[in-house]
Amino acid sequence: TLKPSNGYAALNDDFDNFYVRRLKMRLDDCFARPTIGVPGRFITLMDRKSDDFNRTYKFTGTYTQTLNVSSYNYLGFAQSEGPCADAVEECVRKYGLSSCSPRADSGTNDLAVEVEREVAQFVGKPAAMVFSMGFVTNAGSFPALVSKGCLILSDELNHASIRIGARMSGAVIRSFKHNNIDDLEAKLREAISQGQPRTHRPWKKILVAVEGLYSMEGTMVDLPGVLALKKKYKFFLYVDEAHSIGALGPKGRGVCDYFGIDPAEVDILMGTLTKSFGANGGYIAAEKHIIDKLRSTNAATLLGESPAPSVLMQILASLRIITGEIAPGQGEERLQRIAFNSRYLRLGLKRLGYIVYGHDDSPIIPIMLYHPAKISAFSHEMLKRKISVVVVGYPATPLISSRARFCVSSAHNKEDMDRVLAACDEVGDILQLKFSTGIAGGA
Ligand code: PMP
Repeated sequence: TLKPSNGYAALNDDFDNFYVRRLKMRLDDCFARPTIGVPGRFITLMDRKSDDFNRTYKFTGTYTQTLNVSSYNYLGFAQSEGPCADAVEECVRKYGLSSCSPRADSGTNDLAVEVEREVAQFVGKPAAMVFSMGFVTNAGSFPALVSKGCLILSDELNHASIRIGARMSGAVIRSFKHNNIDDLEAKLREAISQGQPRTHRPWKKILVAVEGLYSMEGTMVDLPGVLALKKKYKFFLYVDEAHSIGALGPKGRGVCDYFGIDPAEVDILMGTLTKSFGANGGYIAAEKHIIDKLRSTNAATLLGESPAPSVLMQILASLRIITGEIAPGQGEERLQRIAFNSRYLRLGLKRLGYIVYGHDDSPIIPIMLYHPAKISAFSHEMLKRKISVVVVGYPATPLISSRARFCVSSAHNKEDMDRVLAACDEVGDILQLKFSTGIAGGA
């Protein structure tokens, strides 16, 4: 390890521990595997050989094509052919690659204006604003919505971008137990007990922040439960739909669509354009006066580059396919396929005896590995069977709650799901991962 030379802590002292621990557990080669080409139904990995314990890899010059259940390509829009790719290719010729300017200067082109109009319409809000990065959408928007004297009640498993945005806002932050309506109510009661009940006092505002679909757990927000509390306690509600927009609901319009709830009941609908749309960036959709305020106060968009034109074109093309404006029927088919694949794989894994987390309709399907030693073993066994999966361990999860996550896509078919199940059947036996006796009627 690196030792401080001057009596002070070395700059990367804390990193050193993390890095050594990962090397000791031989976890390093499960992450950041270099790939080439499209992260679609298949993904091609560049084969590399590790120089043990030296954190260097040598490329062997060969490649392995694997079935890809590791990318957030929910609706299969990551492909490089078809109507999206044609529109994007034409757009690059017409607009070039970069807008070379923030929105407030000369970065507001017709595509940005159109994306905002269509995104607002799609999610059912009067207005929307696009950002060049999903992470920054959260990190930059909280400080524009709340400030000192406000309270943010945040689900304990909210994404880092929400937590960072919340911290930057200067508001007081309290977390409540994951998706636990009783605990949220207890925290609300506690928060307003010093003032008059059912008002925001003594807080300027109370903002509750949740996600539509949680990416480590596969849980779906209990939106009806949260909205019942909103009626009672009159807080503002922020829902991050990074993983639910496009992926949930009969029309792919996210959790409101899924639960049949009027989007007007949620104050802020945030989403990313990286996952279901195969593009980049994020959006906030809300009442016009909120969007106007965000536009004039959000430092990330006032001073940061606006989204690339080709990315905006990809968003427009994929959105229009989902709504049926382009290639009628294709959007519907994609939505049906992801719904089928999600349920089919989840049920199959349960039948095999895996402990599977999350909601039945979630396209993110986490299975429990528990022991950290099984992280790399699972990843490698799946890779031997030419399947790419994401594995997650400490510090992203508690130490003994290691897991693997399958990300299901409309690009997959039933045979692909059967291939994953057959591999999990074998690997589950090798690594003793079949914890339950399966469900009734199971194989
Ligand atoms: N919110 C959530 C819930 C996320 O999971 C992520 C990233 N996966 C983000 C925001 C950030 O989005 P992006 O990767 O598009 O920057």
